[in-house]
Amino acid sequence: MSDGLLVTTADGTISKANQALCRLLGYREADLVQKNIASFFTHPADIAMNLSRCGSEGDEISKAEHRLLTKDGAHVPVLFSATPLAEESGTLLGIVCIFTDITERKNAETALREAHDLLEQRVVERTRELAEANTALTREMAERKRAEAELRQAQKMRAIGTLAGGIAHDFNNILTAILGYTQLAMQRLTSDATCRSFLGEVFIAGQRAQKLVQQILTFSRQSEQEKQPVEIHLIIKEALKLLRASLPANIGIVQHLPRCGAVMADPTQIHQVVMNLCTNAYHAMQEKGGTLTVSLAETEAADISPPLPAGDYLQLVVSDTGCGMDTAILERIFEPYFTTKETGKGTGLGLAVTHGIVEGHGGHIRVVSTTGLGTTFSIYLPLQKELQAEPVAVLEKKEIRGGNERILVVDDEQELTQLLEMFLTQYGYRVTGLTDSTAAYAWFCANRQEVDLVITDMSMPRLTGKELAEKLLAERPGLPIILCTGYNEQINAESARELGIRAFLLKPFQEKELAGLVREVLDTGPGRDK
Ligand code: ADP
Ligand code: MG
Repeated sequence: MSDGLLVTTADGTISKANQALCRLLGYREADLVQKNIASFFTHPADIAMNLSRCGSEGDEISKAEHRLLTKDGAHVPVLFSATPLAEESGTLLGIVCIFTDITERKNAETALREAHDLLEQRVVERTRELAEANTALTREMAERKRAEAELRQAQKMRAIGTLAGGIAHDFNNILTAILGYTQLAMQRLTSDATCRSFLGEVFIAGQRAQKLVQQILTFSRQSEQEKQPVEIHLIIKEALKLLRASLPANIGIVQHLPRCGAVMADPTQIHQVVMNLCTNAYHAMQEKGGTLTVSLAETEAADISPPLPAGDYLQLVVSDTGCGMDTAILERIFEPYFTTKETGKGTGLGLAVTHGIVEGHGGHIRVVSTTGLGTTFSIYLPLQKELQAEPVAVLEKKEIRGGNERILVVDDEQELTQLLEMFLTQYGYRVTGLTDSTAAYAWFCANRQEVDLVITDMSMPRLTGKELAEKLLAERPGLPIILCTGYNEQINAESARELGIRAFLLKPFQEKELAGLVREVLDTGPGRDK
C-alpha cells in the first residue's frame, strides 16, 4: 500500500504501522509502536481528542489536511483519515489511520499561487504603466491642441495686422496733408471766426484719426519704437498713480512692484500696456467692485506653464476679480475692434494694441479667465540682466523754442515742402524749400556756409534722401540732417546714423513735433556753423 497506515488503541497509542508510514516519517516500526500518534503531528493539540471521539462515538475523520513531523524535522503535508475498527459486538479493536502524502500537490499549489501572485502583480504594474502612459498622452494631446490654437491665433493676428497696417499706412500719409493744410488754413483765417472754428473741428477729428491710425500701426507692429533699457516698475507705478484717481472706492488696488532687472522697451508703449490692461480690469469690476492686483517678478522660462522659449523673463501680472470671460470671448479678445462693451465705452483696440506691443518687444502674453470670478493677464518680456537701466519719464512735456537758423528743406512733393516752410517760418527760422534733390545739392554747394540744418524726405526720384545726405555730409562733415520717412520706407536706422544723419521724422508729424526735433538737433552735438 503506498499510503501510510497505522493502527492505534482508543487513546491513540500506536500498535502497528506499515512500511509506507515508516518511510514517510523516517522511523522504524519499532520506534513508533507504543508512542502516541499525536506526537507525530506538527500541531498535536486536537488530534488526541478527535481520535478518542472516533473511538468512542464512531466519528470518522475523513481526509483532513495535517502536517506530520518527520524524524529529521521536516513537515510533510498529508491527508489524514481515521476510522474505528470494532467487533460485531461493538468492542473496539483499534483505530485505523491512513496518511496520504500530498507534498507534490501542495508544491504544485504553492507554485500555482506564486505564479498567480506574480501575474496579479504584473497586471497591477501594467495597469499602472498604462494609466501613466494614458495621462502622458492626454497631457501631450492637450499641449498639442493648445500649441495649435496658439499658432492659429498668431496666424490670424498676423493676417489682420498686415491688412490693417496696410490701410493705416495710406491713411497716415493722407492725414499728414489734411492736418497740415488745416493748420495752415486756420492761420490764414484769423478774421473769419466761423470758418476757423469749422477748421478747428476738422483738425480735432483729424487728430483723432491720427491717434487711431497710430494704434493700428502699433497693433500691426509697424510703429516706430524707441527701445531703451528700462526698469518697468517705475513706469507701472506712474500708470497706477494716474489710474487710482479714476477708480471708484469699491475697487481696491494691490500692488507688488519690486525693483527687477531691466528690459529693452519703449517706456511709452509699456505705459500704454499697463493702462489698457488696468482699464479693462476696472471695467470688468465696475458693477460689483473688487480688487485689481498688479505684480512684477523675475522668472525663468522653465517655471512658466505652458513653457516659453528658454530664457529669463520679467513677468507682469494684471489680475482682477471682475466678470471674467467665457471661451468664445477669450478666443477673440486680441482682434482689433472686438469689444463686448457698448459704443462709446470700448473701441476694441486696447488688447489688440497691447498684443502688438508685447510681440514687438519679443514678449508673450497669456490670459486665464473664469466667468464670474475674474481674469489674469500675464505678460512676459525678455530680461536683459546685464543692461543698466536708464531713468525715464514717460509723460514729460517740453516747451518748444524756435530760432533764426537757416534750414534747407527738400521734398519732391511741393505741397509738403510748402508745409514744412510754413511751419518752420512760424518759429522764426529762415527756410529754403526745394523739390528737386539734385538741384538742392547744387544749391547747397553754392551756399554751404549759410545752412544750419537740412530736412530731407527719404523717397525722391533720382537722388534719394539718403544719397543726398551722403553727398551733403561729404561736402560738410557734421552737418545736421533730419530724414523724413513714411512707415513703408524701411530704412536701417543704424546705418543711417553711422552715415551721420542726426534724426528721423516719421510721417505724419505734428507741427510741435517737428519744431521740437529741429531745436533739439540744432542744439545738440557738433556741426554748428564752422
Ligand atoms: P475694449 O476694452 O475697448 O472693449 P479691448 O481690446 O481692451 O477692447 O478688450 C476686448 C474685450 O475683451 C472687451 O470688450 C471684454 O469683453 C474683454 N476683456 C478684456 N479684458 C477683460 C477683463 N479684464 N475682464 C473681462 N473681460 C475682458
Ligand atoms: Mg480695453
